Amino acid sequence: MPIRRMGWIGLIVVLAAIALLPLPDFWILQLNYIGLYSLVCLGLVLLTGVAGLTSFGQAAFVGIAAYTSAWLTLNLGWSPWVTLFAGLLLTGISAFIVGCITLRMSGHYLPLATIAWGLSLYYLMGNLDALGKYDGLLGITGISVFGHDLGQGRGIYVLIWLCVLAAVWAIQHLLDSRPGRAIRALKGATQMAEAMGVNTLRYKIIIFVLAALLAAISGWLFAHFQRSINPSPFGLKMGIEYLFMAVIGGVGQVWGALTGAFLTKVLEDQLQVLLPKLLGTSGSFEVIVFGILLVLMLKFLPQGLWSLVEQRLPLPPRQMDWADAPDLPARAQPGHGELVLDVRSIRKQFGGLTAVNDISFQIHAGEIVGLIGPNGAGKSTTFNLVTGVLAKTSGEVHFRGKDITRLRSRDILREGMARTFQHVKMIPDMTVLENVALGAYTRGQAGVVRSMLHLNQAEERQLFKQAQRQLERIGMGQYLHEQAGNLAMGPQRLMEIARALCCDPALLLLDEPAAGLRHKEKVALTNVLRQLRSEGMSILLVEHDMDLVMDVCDQLVVMEFGTLLTCGTPAEVQANPAVRAAYLGTEH
Ligand code: ADP
Ligand code: MG
Repeated sequence: MPIRRMGWIGLIVVLAAIALLPLPDFWILQLNYIGLYSLVCLGLVLLTGVAGLTSFGQAAFVGIAAYTSAWLTLNLGWSPWVTLFAGLLLTGISAFIVGCITLRMSGHYLPLATIAWGLSLYYLMGNLDALGKYDGLLGITGISVFGHDLGQGRGIYVLIWLCVLAAVWAIQHLLDSRPGRAIRALKGATQMAEAMGVNTLRYKIIIFVLAALLAAISGWLFAHFQRSINPSPFGLKMGIEYLFMAVIGGVGQVWGALTGAFLTKVLEDQLQVLLPKLLGTSGSFEVIVFGILLVLMLKFLPQGLWSLVEQRLPLPPRQMDWADAPDLPARAQPGHGELVLDVRSIRKQFGGLTAVNDISFQIHAGEIVGLIGPNGAGKSTTFNLVTGVLAKTSGEVHFRGKDITRLRSRDILREGMARTFQHVKMIPDMTVLENVALGAYTRGQAGVVRSMLHLNQAEERQLFKQAQRQLERIGMGQYLHEQAGNLAMGPQRLMEIARALCCDPALLLLDEPAAGLRHKEKVALTNVLRQLRSEGMSILLVEHDMDLVMDVCDQLVVMEFGTLLTCGTPAEVQANPAVRAAYLGTEH
């Protein structure tokens, strides 16, 4: 039996045994809290661990749902099963609004915004008469199933842990899916994700809402389990504690959320009993110990405790058989010699500096065009203007007859123009195959909900089949299941080319693909470029390595100080005295 399934069955057996065995009620109570915390921490794994968006405001989302559900059951007599949806709805809308405002912020502004939001909600809850001010709401009804009140012990325990397990299951499936690969790119590779056709802001908002909804389920359970609520468990202090728990357990992994919630709760209880005995006085000393522990954790085990488990138990790659999956629909490719890219006097000014000065050139199908020039000549800027990463000061770019001057990079990719990066951009902890599958993002449809419900498998098989095909096409077939971060520079650059090929492009743009490669790797790259051309691919190659450029290019565009020096075949360019002076002269 696969180890993952064994783990699941083991966990379910243990959880069921706890419910059935005559264990102390106190244990069940503690496990109920652990389950409630785990739900919130699972949201943080997604948001902070995977996507790199730090939030101190999750407790506030717990509070919105708890108060909504409590108020509606108390004042309108609605069933908790109805108010669950009201709580989810209100939390979801709040998170959406907050997310739309704050997720555009970068760096430390987002955490600061979540603090502000957590604080203001706490005071709102504490000051509204309808919500009982700081006394809160009392006498909240319990959750019933078929007329049977789940109570505060084993009944609600079962419900809480069913929610936790369902959430873990769904998030694991989400992270292993088309939208999941896009989400995993949010931490540190948004530019790459956009270049693969991903709307990164949209995904940030989606997971922000998703994390808030997990907190909302926790809040709903909490209100009807505790039967009374007040603002304090929804304040900033608790928001920080949730983040503590996630970091201690391992904020990058789904099981880390459960580990962190479990350890924090157990340790807190033990310390609350132990410390006053040791010190002879009572007080919240456990907070101090926690603070010290957290600092030590961040120093010595920043990946969290679950990472220790994972190192001991390296999970085998998920087995999926896609050999017989149907092929993805392909794009109509341009005929040989057809005009593919038409760059018409594009210009870019950075303040007073004209980095690209009215550059024009064309690329025809089946041609490799090299863009060369000394350092600082404006090659990368030109590249970024064509691919939509930078806005043009003036000029036009037409691609296969269509004006793409004002399109964003993710929309340009959808037209069939794919790129690689001067500095390799990838998701190091994903396999090569998964990284390359991200390149086929625009050729799939499965969204977040479908992926969480595991209804995306037919499409996943198609995407992986495509990824494997592109890797094999350029001789990378032996690296499929390697971690991308472990590859040497040569294979990393080829992986980027395979990823670009996955979107079925009509034009490939490569920014210095030979930079940092050893001789043998350069030869391999040259062969790949030749092979792609023979298969009809058009390529724009920005490159420093003169031998490689002269070797593979059909046409060259030479830039100097942002202007076009000359263009022509490699032989013509080499014979041009101006080029020799400007470029080759400085090189040799
Ligand atoms: P190349 O890729 O040919 O080495 P670049 O396109 O990177 O050259 O840069 C061309 C010129 O534009 C350089 O003088 C560089 O300093 C300037 N430049 C590039 N990017 C920016 C930017 N974001 N802001 C200001 N100046 C820039
Ligand atoms: Mg450059």
